Amino acid sequence: MSERNELEKVPGLMVPGLLPAARYPLTAGYWIAADEGRLVIQRCTECGTHRHPPAPACYRCQSFQWDWHQVSGAGQIFSYTWVHAALTQAFVATVPYNVCVVELADTDGVRIASTVTGVNEGDDLIGSRVQGYFADAGGGNKLLLFAGA
Ligand SMILES: [Zn+2]
Repeated sequence: MSERNELEKVPGLMVPGLLPAARYPLTAGYWIAADEGRLVIQRCTECGTHRHPPAPACYRCQSFQWDWHQVSGAGQIFSYTWVHAALTQAFVATVPYNVCVVELADTDGVRIASTVTGVNEGDDLIGSRVQGYFADAGGGNKLLLFAGA
């Protein structure tokens, strides 16, 4: 994955006053990799099951052993919606924007919520192949976004 500067195309993704993401022991590895433009997904080291968002134990075998597995960021859009009402003042300039659920290709069905860029409302996105990338969102945060592959 490579970092792309998509903020000029999607100016609303820069959220003024956004605080740095909380880096708890369970999530810090994700954010450290994101800072480097890499997407990692938590993986059980006992049975190999991927899971996201991170959780202390494997839902399949209940093991507490896990590591971070770097994935390509390729995937397909499973679902999406368009948001028209800003929930806070910080998002007034952002609406409308989409929220998509992407099924990552090189995991065992992990789905991750994000935004797909370079699309228009009314486009049929279900099943579209996309590629993830990280963009600077302010506050020291790198956000995972997707664009058409
Ligand atoms: Zn497991």
